[in-house]
Amino acid sequence: MHAYESARQYFENAASVMDLSANMKKLLLTPEREVKVQVAMKTDNGEIATFVGYRIQHNSARGPMKGGLRYHPEVNGEEVLALASLMTWKTAVVDIPYGGAKGGITVSPKALSSNELELLTRKFIDELQDVIGPDKDIPAPDMGTNAQVMAWIMNQYEKYHGFNPACVTGKPLELHGTDGREEATGRGVGLLTEAILEKLKRPVTDATIAIQGFGNVGSFAADYLQRCGGKVVAISDISGAKVNSNGIDVQAALAFTRANGSLDGFQSEQQLSNAELLALDVDVLIPAALGGVLTKENAGDVRAKLVIEAANGPVDPDADAILQKRDIVVLPDILANAGGVTVSYFEWVQNQQYFKWDLDRTRAELAKTLLASFEKMWDLATEKRIPLRTAAYLMGIGRVGRATVLAGI
Ligand code: NAD
Repeated sequence: MHAYESARQYFENAASVMDLSANMKKLLLTPEREVKVQVAMKTDNGEIATFVGYRIQHNSARGPMKGGLRYHPEVNGEEVLALASLMTWKTAVVDIPYGGAKGGITVSPKALSSNELELLTRKFIDELQDVIGPDKDIPAPDMGTNAQVMAWIMNQYEKYHGFNPACVTGKPLELHGTDGREEATGRGVGLLTEAILEKLKRPVTDATIAIQGFGNVGSFAADYLQRCGGKVVAISDISGAKVNSNGIDVQAALAFTRANGSLDGFQSEQQLSNAELLALDVDVLIPAALGGVLTKENAGDVRAKLVIEAANGPVDPDADAILQKRDIVVLPDILANAGGVTVSYFEWVQNQQYFKWDLDRTRAELAKTLLASFEKMWDLATEKRIPLRTAAYLMGIGRVGRATVLAGI
């Protein structure tokens, strides 16, 4: 199932519980602005290369739009729209004053030199600079982009508009970034995993955990959960999965990937494929790599009791229905991975105030924001006897819908 179909299906499921009118549904599904640009540049060897870039601004009813920029060969308009709409519900679920957007370039960043990547980014911002900005739409990192790319974006934006670090988040610390942004999504996944295990009366110290993806999100989640006493028995990256029944040494795995670029060659008891990792007999399964990894083909094989959607859209609606029937609890992406956008918001707040928080404050505010939203979602799901995902969408769609009506159409 395509990312957009999935996002639409989840929206429809919640809309039917809410009795949303057809007109409001149409209004909330339709993006406010879709920008598609050609980015042309000269490569290092003097040839002309062209790329397609997107920025889709889905909804601004609750504030400036917010969302990552993805550099990946499979970036396409449908996927960007799906991710932009997820951002609208995500920022509303955690109740930060933003709408939702997403963007990207169809490119394999690893195939470009650093100079080419910088040029591509600056040219892309030349095209977008008049539709983004601190009070309009604030980009952030996503797959294939990082703090360095955000620094180039800030610099290029400022050439048109003057000093304004709040125009982009996920920046390096030396350029008005915030302590705690890099770890935020994975830390949020860890905090929420702990919270939901508590609700299920299963302390994290008794839990076995398998994590697909050992990049930014997966590695920080693994580190957090291991420090809380959880047993991370499997991790993986694009090179495959590593399993240790007594627990992976997450710090050693991190040091190994830093030195070698991937987990390929990291010592473990057992090596599995990424598909086999999804079917491991563990308490908690955390897909933290790609979207669409659990489908109707493999949802029946999942043996975990709890699935935490650390990636965006890892469980498609067919798989979701199967997991639900099998009483497997799913913590939805629009809350599970909202730690990143939450700390991006803290970065923007600090930039607007020319004031710097320390790491303890960022961590404390992150926990407060995520856990308050989690409690609300849990109570709503319990009260209405609906899945956590539907409850989260109800919160998100409800807040955006009410803001739209109050502001007047
Ligand atoms: P990343 O690029 O840092 O890491 C991705 C990881 O997935 C790597 O370990 C990579 O080897 C692995 N991977 C890639 N292809 C794979 C495959 N075919 N099979 C298994 N593993 C594969 O990315 P990230 O920032 O950690 O993002 C991971 C997911 O989390 C994405 O879905 C992203 O949209 C989502 N997300 C990220 C953030 C954030 O702040 N970074 C915030 C919200 C959501």
